[in-house]
This record gives sequence, structure tokens and C-alpha cells, in this order.
Amino acid sequence: MFNMNEQNIIGLLKSFTEKDFEKDVDLHIHSTYSDGHMTPEELVLDAEKKGLRYIAIADHNTVNAYIETDILNNKMVIPAIEFDCWYQGVLVHILGYGIDVNNEELQRYCAKDKRGTEADIVRLFNHRHPKDIIKAIKNAGGAAILAHPACYWCFSLDFFVKSLMKYGLDGVEAYYPYKRHRGIIKFHFAATVAKVAKKYGLIATGGTDSHYKIADKLHKKEDL
Ligand SMILES: [Zn+2]
Ligand SMILES: [Zn+2]
Repeated sequence: MFNMNEQNIIGLLKSFTEKDFEKDVDLHIHSTYSDGHMTPEELVLDAEKKGLRYIAIADHNTVNAYIETDILNNKMVIPAIEFDCWYQGVLVHILGYGIDVNNEELQRYCAKDKRGTEADIVRLFNHRHPKDIIKAIKNAGGAAILAHPACYWCFSLDFFVKSLMKYGLDGVEAYYPYKRHRGIIKFHFAATVAKVAKKYGLIATGGTDSHYKIADKLHKKEDL
């Protein structure tokens, strides 16, 4: 069973390098508990088959994949969530890693029904603020990471990230296949994300945002 305090999850995330995200670590996967097509159990089996070392299923606004299955008994699984929030007029996704999925404060911000985990249009009507979400993730023992930062419409990504840091943001998703996700709008260069992460000493994580099987190709520089 995954059992980590905040220091440990931060240490683990910090230990990953770009090479790990190319080879055998995928920290951004969706399951049938949100808008993915594979069950959590199918994802774990597929990840084992493909020789991955760590995976995180980060469903939209729900941790039910961890509550309703026993995948946390598998050491390769890091409990995670991807929250929708509004910040400065921008819809922002914040990932939580290493969270206690039974934490009550965290669960207060989770979707109350299946729709709140699925259709983008329904999920637009949420009232979450990064300040509360980051606090809830940290109070649940987790690390808070800004998902796919190049997607956010803001004048300066540096300023945007810096202002989230005052709420306790721990890191940014630096390795993300923007080119494979054509539907995702991109306003900044991935290189800017990496630069900002380095400038502020933020953790740099990576994942494929796969909604199907474990991706055959994990992180590749060309996809940034
Ligand atoms: Zn997202
Ligand atoms: Zn996602």
C-alpha cells in the first residue's frame, strides 16, 4: 500500500529526471473513473506488461479509482488527482500526487457525481480556486503540480507560476506531449516552462495524459 508523507512524495518526484519520463514513468493517465477508456486495473496490468516503474492515474476531480479498486496495493502506483480550478479568468488544471485519498478536506473538492469527472463543458462550471485546492492537496500529504502549463492563456507564464507559488505550488508538469494532443491549445513554449521551473527551483514532472492504454511512446522531446 502506498504510504508516504509529504516529504517523501516530494523527494520521489524530485528524483525523477527527463530520462525517467522517457523510459518508465508516466504520471498523468486517465481511467474510466473520469473520461479515460481503460479501467484502473487494466492500466496497471498494461503498465506492468510494458515494464513501467511508476504510474499515476490522475482522473478529473475524483480519487474513486483508488477508493473503489485495490490498485494502491501495487507499489508502482502513486495516488493522484487532476483538479479543475479557475485562476485569473483561466481554467487551470492542478495535479495532486501522493495524496491520502481518504482525506476529508480533499474529498470536499471532488466531483459529487460522474458528470463532474467527464464532460469538459460540465466541468467548466466549478468554483474551485487554486488556493483552496493546493492547500487541500498538501493537507492530504500530497504535492501540488501545475498541469500542462504551456496551455494557459496568460501574458507571462513566469508571473502566472510565481503567483501560484504563493499558495504553495510545488512544481510544474514540464514533460507533456503537446503535439500529440492536438485538441489542447498552447500559448507558450515548453522551453519556457522548463526555464520557469529552473528559475524557481520547482519540481519538474511528466506524463502523457493518455485516455487509452498506457502510451507506447512515453515522453519524447519532439512532442513538447
Ligand atoms: Zn489537464
Ligand atoms: Zn489530464
